[in-house]
Amino acid sequence: MGPPWKSRYVCILNMKKTSHVLHTARIANNCPECYASNGLEFTFSQEVIETKWYKKAEKTIAETLYCHTCNSTIYPVTWNDDIERVHEYHQKLVVPHTTGTHLTSLTYILLLAGIVIVAAVVYLLIR
Ligand SMILES: [Zn+2]
Repeated sequence: MGPPWKSRYVCILNMKKTSHVLHTARIANNCPECYASNGLEFTFSQEVIETKWYKKAEKTIAETLYCHTCNSTIYPVTWNDDIERVHEYHQKLVVPHTTGTHLTSLTYILLLAGIVIVAAVVYLLIR
């Protein structure tokens, strides 16, 4: 929850935040909670903001380690050295979306329409 002006701003832009999964990996490490060695899975995801006008990927990559055996999220504070090593390895495999702003086709159409209108006005003025 942000300040009220921010939610209004988000509403005007019709902003949509979606989480894109970039990379997942089942790892053979022991779970720090239930000690099972077949339940841990890393998920790397990135939030992408989409509005009617543009699309932009967030810089930060969200990382979660989930254990499918005890159905719990394993937080980094409980990670041991082995998990840290595997995490480092998988982190290098993650290819993030570029964080530049991409204009949507609607924006291009409106820009083009704007240029056509300006050209028409100029033509009428100098005729
Ligand atoms: Zn577990």
